[in-house]
Amino acid sequence: MSQLNDNIDRAQQYMQRFREQGVLNHINGESVAADSGKTFETLSPVDLAPLANVAHGDASDIDRAVKAAEKAFKSWSKTPGKERRAILIKVAEAIEARAEEIAFTECMDTGQSLRFMSKAAIRGAANFRFFADRAPQAEDGQALRNDTQMNVTSKRPLGPVGVITPWNTPFMLSTWKIAPALASGCTVVHKPAEFSPMTAKLLVEIAEEAGLPKGVLNLVNGMGEGAGKALTEHPGIKAIAFVGESHTGQLIMAQAAPTLKRFHFELGGKNPVIVFDDADIDRAVNAATFMIYSLNGERCTSSSRLLVHERIYDEVTRRVAEVANGVKVGHPLDPETVVGPLIHPEHEQKVLSYFAKAREEGATIAAGGEKVGEAGCFVRPTLFTHARNDMTIAQEEIFGPVLTAIPFKDEEEALRLANDTQYGLAAYLWTNDLDRAMRLTDALEAGMIWVNSENVRHLESPFGGVKSSGIGRDGGDWSFDFYMETVNVSFPRKVHPVPKLG
Ligand code: NAD
Repeated sequence: MSQLNDNIDRAQQYMQRFREQGVLNHINGESVAADSGKTFETLSPVDLAPLANVAHGDASDIDRAVKAAEKAFKSWSKTPGKERRAILIKVAEAIEARAEEIAFTECMDTGQSLRFMSKAAIRGAANFRFFADRAPQAEDGQALRNDTQMNVTSKRPLGPVGVITPWNTPFMLSTWKIAPALASGCTVVHKPAEFSPMTAKLLVEIAEEAGLPKGVLNLVNGMGEGAGKALTEHPGIKAIAFVGESHTGQLIMAQAAPTLKRFHFELGGKNPVIVFDDADIDRAVNAATFMIYSLNGERCTSSSRLLVHERIYDEVTRRVAEVANGVKVGHPLDPETVVGPLIHPEHEQKVLSYFAKAREEGATIAAGGEKVGEAGCFVRPTLFTHARNDMTIAQEEIFGPVLTAIPFKDEEEALRLANDTQYGLAAYLWTNDLDRAMRLTDALEAGMIWVNSENVRHLESPFGGVKSSGIGRDGGDWSFDFYMETVNVSFPRKVHPVPKLG
């Protein structure tokens, strides 16, 4: 039997339970159907066959989940950091033990290829370990003294928080939000994306089997405008950690305004990769193609605009086209596959619409630009050349394996083009001129800038965007700042004159 057939068989076994029982919500330690009894179907992006029925949660399910999170918060927030650490390390170990199940399920539910998803569970476990290790010190603060007072700060968990996640790498992204929330002493209600509900259910089950008390992590599936909206509006929820589109971020901010919540928003991007003619072109081409064609290009930090110095534009774009034409598009469980099917026919239609748009706007399709096969949501890795930065294909987030290449003549133009977008998540800069790197990294409008590198994530470092790409940072201590409230207590250091009125 080929490796692919063997993988498909194993994936079917892992997902059999979802086919039989559906993907249920998980509230206060129990698997439950939606209060209304309603379900919706999740599809395989490989052949559009139904994968499972999913609980269609709504406001009443959210309310039950928030009540469970509020009750659990009373004890979880008081559980000593060392004990929280021990439980969360067990969760990490349990994730590692079920890494294959998580990876195979994620591939079938999202269309992401096994080549990249095989590491998703390991990355998720790493998130749990990293934040678990910081739990014992999470409430520590500073002592700040002046002549008369000693101010002592400490941190307290905020309360129940809402985590709303997208479909592109759902398991990894969920752990990145949920692990620091739990390490901080918060409890969580998670609303995963409707297109990719499966691994969120695995996560909550794994966590509870590993010892996470019931009600600390709750899961409600449903639509954004139903369960998602209700979560953002619930007065019991103290903060929303949201990853998704910029427009959804705007809606959430408005929905949550009456209950004055804290937000962390990780939103869209149209990230430039700028290649100067003094750069190591081999490395730049490898990094740029990796950052747009891995994970199906469904990646917030994808390098979706390739800005290349005019002297090397033809060579760089020729080599990018060679890579695009050479990567395998295929079944996500085939170990050779780089680009799997896009998440859903709706999203595929969106991506395909930019191929027509590119032609209309006068760009050249130098590679790809078409659907592959009839079944499933497969599109060819694509390169647009002879593009201008004011074209739609250079301004809108396509969120597929689609790269728009634009030439520039000098540093000033490169910077202007890079910043000429509503987004500001990541930027990638390829140059061997240190002075230029210093100048540009000071001037690029992005929350994260990688010099001579692809996106290499370092959990201690801050993650997040500027402009329409987000609000706030997470990673390292920034995550704890978000999920915790800083409290200042002031003690007199000596008897000082208290103002006396009258
Ligand atoms: P989306 O905004 O459509 O949905 C994300 C989540 O929000 C889903 O769970 C959805 O159900 C929910 N939602 C939708 N409407 C809502 C509402 N009114 N109230 C509350 N919740 C609502 O995004 P998507 O299409 O699932 O994901 C792709 C987007 O995510 C892209 O724009 C991508 O750039 C972004 N993303 C950003 C990062 C980052 O770190 N900046 C990471 C991954 C993905």
